[in-house]
Amino acid sequence: MSLDPAARALVRSDCYIDGAWVASAARFAVTDPATDLVLAEVPDLDAAAVERAIAAATAAFPAWRARSAYDRAAVLAGMAARMRQEKDGLAALITAENGKPLAEAAGEVAYAASFLEWFAGEAVRVYGETVPASSVGQRIEVQRAPVGPCALITPWNFPAAMLTRKLGPALAVGCTVVCKPAEATPLTTLALAGFAHDLGVPPGVINVVTGDGARIGGQLVGSLAMRKVSFTGSTAVGRSIARVCAETTRRVSLELGGNAPFVVLDDADLDRALAGALVAKFRNAGQSCVAANRFIVQRPVAQAFTDRLAAAAAALVVGDGRAPGVSIGPLVDRRAVAKVRRLVEDALARGARLVTGTLPADDARWIGPIVLAEITGEMAVWREEIFGPVVAIRACDGDDEAIALANDTDAGLVAYVFGRDPGRLRRVTAALEVGMVGVNEGLVSTAQAPFGGIKASGLGREGSHHGLEDYTDLKYVMERVAW
Ligand code: NAD
Repeated sequence: MSLDPAARALVRSDCYIDGAWVASAARFAVTDPATDLVLAEVPDLDAAAVERAIAAATAAFPAWRARSAYDRAAVLAGMAARMRQEKDGLAALITAENGKPLAEAAGEVAYAASFLEWFAGEAVRVYGETVPASSVGQRIEVQRAPVGPCALITPWNFPAAMLTRKLGPALAVGCTVVCKPAEATPLTTLALAGFAHDLGVPPGVINVVTGDGARIGGQLVGSLAMRKVSFTGSTAVGRSIARVCAETTRRVSLELGGNAPFVVLDDADLDRALAGALVAKFRNAGQSCVAANRFIVQRPVAQAFTDRLAAAAAALVVGDGRAPGVSIGPLVDRRAVAKVRRLVEDALARGARLVTGTLPADDARWIGPIVLAEITGEMAVWREEIFGPVVAIRACDGDDEAIALANDTDAGLVAYVFGRDPGRLRRVTAALEVGMVGVNEGLVSTAQAPFGGIKASGLGREGSHHGLEDYTDLKYVMERVAW
């Protein structure tokens, strides 16, 4: 299928630097994962162009921070309104470059716009404090100041939402930004830059650079002018960014990989657990940091839950995300399919039972739903983020074992718990080593709540009023008012 006309109208194939569209002789292709068709060729920028983007963000910062918070809020609200107005085109663009089903892409547009709306509201509530001083005649005031120009580095799995979750708070508090989208999905970010341009956002406030992730991402992270780096992506790259920021004492936020446990207690409402499992596992074909990765099911309900989940998974329609009724699109690229294949083969070789599903041919773009049971801790599928539509089920006894298994990972992003007894649910929830918990709920992401992980899953929070904190520094002023 070719690109939808509403999406075509949003395609920008140049970078956005200092309020202007910037071309480059060197380019790379952005392809549709469902068809391999080239959607656009975007700049593979050289170091000098990236430096111009950094310089533009630096030059624009004093005037942007000096604008009233109400002005900045209006910009965010304007961008959100435009996103909602163009929702069909944007959704089609996301499906074209990422592969997710159109209905999910439309959901992502609404979710992404909600961050801009939320932070438009928060922009005018960046309060300070006054603190009683210990000496008469002194006044202590604590202000919140924007950290400065920021590098925003985003992944391909939610190309709109992962950007607006950073852009919203950054612009709200008065920071300027250089955005670096993933190579697979730069078109959504460039389309949003187009909206900012049309709205008259001052040159340099938002810049978008595209190119080789390690090279230009590394340049942004290494630049001392970037006072903060906000990164969403893999744990390995996140750690390397944290090292560079540590050496140069700069702020860094990291939203990294997960390995979410999905715990089903023996008193769970299995209809509810099944509904939660389907959304937690199969959204974006499992390519989500909050995807349920390890199903830990208490033995009395293990068979029934496995059978029901297998039947529901087998009924999901796999195909081109634009086709009606499809709920699992292609994985982002063939490397992703190969990774999922490796994990499934490893599990089967180590004794997992294939309940439903088949492994695809070697050159496949798609992988259908697969349900594996009798998972053990030595299997790669238990240790690694699957990032595909594969359910891995392990039976367990008692709440203590469920908790121990849930915490048996370096990751600590999210966990899901299903059960009925409120006391048990509270006890299990309290013991889970994660930043977020869904209790009888398979979808926790929302603009009002602090999204983020502990352990190897990252540092900092995005969304909610806490999402502003990572973009501000506290400045304390001691004032002598009487002497
Ligand atoms: P990735 O780490 O390969 O890439 C993420 C971004 O970093 C891309 O823009 C990439 O070009 C850039 N990059 C790559 N090397 C770099 C370097 N050396 N310096 C600076 N930038 C560099 O991750 P991905 O494959 O795009 O995304 C998938 C990962 O993201 C998964 O692990 C997933 O769990 C994680 N993720 C986390 C969250 C969260 O909120 N915690 C959300 C979405 C995705």
